[in-house]
Amino acid sequence: MDVQHALMSPTEFDMPESVLDALVHGHLAHASLFIGTADVTEKAVRWLAQAILCEGDVRPCGACSSCIKFLADAHPDFFATSGTKVRTNDVEQLQSWLTVRGHQGKKVYALFGADSMTSVAANRMLKTLEEPEPHVYALLTAVQRHTVLSTIRSRCFTHTIHEKGAWPQADYQVVPFVHEALNPPENSSFDGFIDKMVRWTEMWLVERQPALILATKWQAFCGEISAEDSLTLLVEWLRDILYTRIGQSHIRFRTWESQVSHISPILDVRQWTRAIEIVLDSRQRLQSHVAALLNFEQMCIRLREDLS
Ligand SMILES: [Zn+2]
Repeated sequence: MDVQHALMSPTEFDMPESVLDALVHGHLAHASLFIGTADVTEKAVRWLAQAILCEGDVRPCGACSSCIKFLADAHPDFFATSGTKVRTNDVEQLQSWLTVRGHQGKKVYALFGADSMTSVAANRMLKTLEEPEPHVYALLTAVQRHTVLSTIRSRCFTHTIHEKGAWPQADYQVVPFVHEALNPPENSSFDGFIDKMVRWTEMWLVERQPALILATKWQAFCGEISAEDSLTLLVEWLRDILYTRIGQSHIRFRTWESQVSHISPILDVRQWTRAIEIVLDSRQRLQSHVAALLNFEQMCIRLREDLS
């Protein structure tokens, strides 16, 4: 995939695959309604708006002139209502903003709390939603879908947004764990595990071994450490590879630096992100008592199928 269209994965919430896909391929719907808590949907909408307007290689890059303006709340092509209610006055301001030509060709507006819209405001919005101009994206939020007026919601694609528990929690909890794995004391159960994991990654991506062989291998590694711990380390290892792929240098698996730089170019940023999601998903399934080998098999099949 062309790196021009790569995305940074949001860390605080799960953006639906369909939205990410549409964003990457440039066919995002004109109007989207995001359902979830006010906090998480606002974060999701701001992330998406920044990504739409970003001019960087890996969006949202946080460093291009568009991102800098966006993060400073000074982007001329982004309009957002303030507060948690959408008032008639907001809609009027929005409509006059829409008449101004976009600086970069694209314009994005956010209506936070579309379920709080008065019927007067909603009626004024209908025409704007009905007759979309090209390259104008409407991002609406609401706590519940059914509380949004049906005339509004029928004009939007609806997506549910959840907080992402796994990423930030994993970061916080695994620090001592990864440290111990990287610097095993004598007689540690981690002894040699990382070497095996690195070797396994090469079997997966360089030698392209079949999924079922990869699963059996992984199962065999888990004699000393639990299946769940093994996947936690795999996630952290893949994260380091991803960081290297996007040019960041604070990797923790320093001893394996040459392997990291050998492996990281094999997949693109989005594929590495996807690989991490697949492993996180498998780890989650282990908690629901799916048999470890079966779970590893499913994981390896997805790593093969989703990423080739
Ligand atoms: Zn940018």
